[in-house]
Amino acid sequence: MDTTHCHYHGNQQALWQCVTCQRAFGGCCIPLNADDPVEYPPCPLCRGQLKLIAKAQPVEAFTENLGQCFLIGLQRGPLTMMGMLFLGGLIFSYSSSFIVGLVILALMLRYLQSVLQATSQGLHKAPAFRQGMADGGFGIFFRFVMLSIPVIFILVVSSIKPDTPALREVLMWLLTLLMPALIIRIALVEDYQASISVAGVLEVMRGLGWRYLVLCLLVYALWLNYQLVANFIDLPMKQLVPALLVVLGYYCVVIFALLGFAVFQIESSGEAGSAALVDSFAYPQAEWLTKRALADSEVRLKEGQGPSAIEILTLALENNPDDLRLNERFHHLLFALKMQDRCVRHLSHYLPLAAQHNPQLAANALLNVWKIQAEYLPDDPTVCERAAQVLLTRHKAREALLLLNRFPQRFPDYPFLARACLMAARSYAEALGQTKPARELLNYLRGRQPNPALVAEIASMEQVLDRIEQLKPS
Ligand SMILES: [Zn+2]
Ligand SMILES: [Zn+2]
Repeated sequence: MDTTHCHYHGNQQALWQCVTCQRAFGGCCIPLNADDPVEYPPCPLCRGQLKLIAKAQPVEAFTENLGQCFLIGLQRGPLTMMGMLFLGGLIFSYSSSFIVGLVILALMLRYLQSVLQATSQGLHKAPAFRQGMADGGFGIFFRFVMLSIPVIFILVVSSIKPDTPALREVLMWLLTLLMPALIIRIALVEDYQASISVAGVLEVMRGLGWRYLVLCLLVYALWLNYQLVANFIDLPMKQLVPALLVVLGYYCVVIFALLGFAVFQIESSGEAGSAALVDSFAYPQAEWLTKRALADSEVRLKEGQGPSAIEILTLALENNPDDLRLNERFHHLLFALKMQDRCVRHLSHYLPLAAQHNPQLAANALLNVWKIQAEYLPDDPTVCERAAQVLLTRHKAREALLLLNRFPQRFPDYPFLARACLMAARSYAEALGQTKPARELLNYLRGRQPNPALVAEIASMEQVLDRIEQLKPS
């Protein structure tokens, strides 16, 4: 099945199409407001109505997951569970205690439920045994016991009348057909009555359609397979109970994982799937405003409508002047569209913001602006120091020293003046091999009655300078 892609992002699936201008958009371009959902968001280009064209991915074949399920059964969590079953089986075979049997069953069901929950979210990894025990209670055990009462009842009734094997056969087939849906409901729905409600069970079957029959057959086949292995481990021998339990545990993990994957397929396909797909692009109001401005301006830019893109961001920044992403995009747009005056003016707001939250961005912006105005210098010492630090890590010592140039004269009251001067001295000496300006800076620091810690740093820096000068050819 081929999918339409976003007109602006070729790797994104299209979720919307404009009724008027026919453009297809992905969720990337149409962020939604989670606090005020609308059924039909407007087209970012012509404000026409968008219609939902999202189609969830087709359901994978079960056979594709079957191999995975066998592997999941061999992961650490399931193996730990089997170890627990083995120990429990040992205790059980010596004590024959009914309570021990119930505890083993409860622990196993609790863990199996966590396997089903994990795979129902599409995970290919079973939870660790301890984690499986930790989240949630033992409700599944009681739901299972309650479910088994009518099942046992049916089996007993059918065995009372041994002359009607047909009835027994029909009941067994009915159980085989109901079991997968019942297990899914019992594992995922906390409330017992709701979990075995006819509507709920039918919903599972409807969600999978004809694939539900395949699922039943697979589960049935796995169960037969288990019984074959179990028959091999001669049942009457009490000593073999632990081994039998280990095999049972393994097959149960495989079956529960398979059922979990079936749930995942129901939820990621059909109508529910496309709703979930669209919902994954919904954001709280404040976040949405930013996302929408970014997406709309990107669409405009890609349509060659630079001024509209700028206008969208200008408006968004009026409402949210300190949003780093909006400012970053605004800077890039102004620079790319060669709106040089505005670009330089915007820096007085953008640079302090970037220096505070992400100095890498401040350094990038400075490298840009120097292409417009080679002598540009920020008038904020924090910006200069942080951007210089980033530039030094990128081996751009000359650019860093531009920012640190005449630091004492420019910012005599900066509380971290000494730190900035030491950084400048080090980069003069180590990156450029210029010891003279480095010594000047150190002498300046010595003249300011430095504290003992700083004196020690200056001294060690001076030793470095001595060594550099000794190495230099005279
Ligand atoms: Zn349109
Ligand atoms: Zn897009």
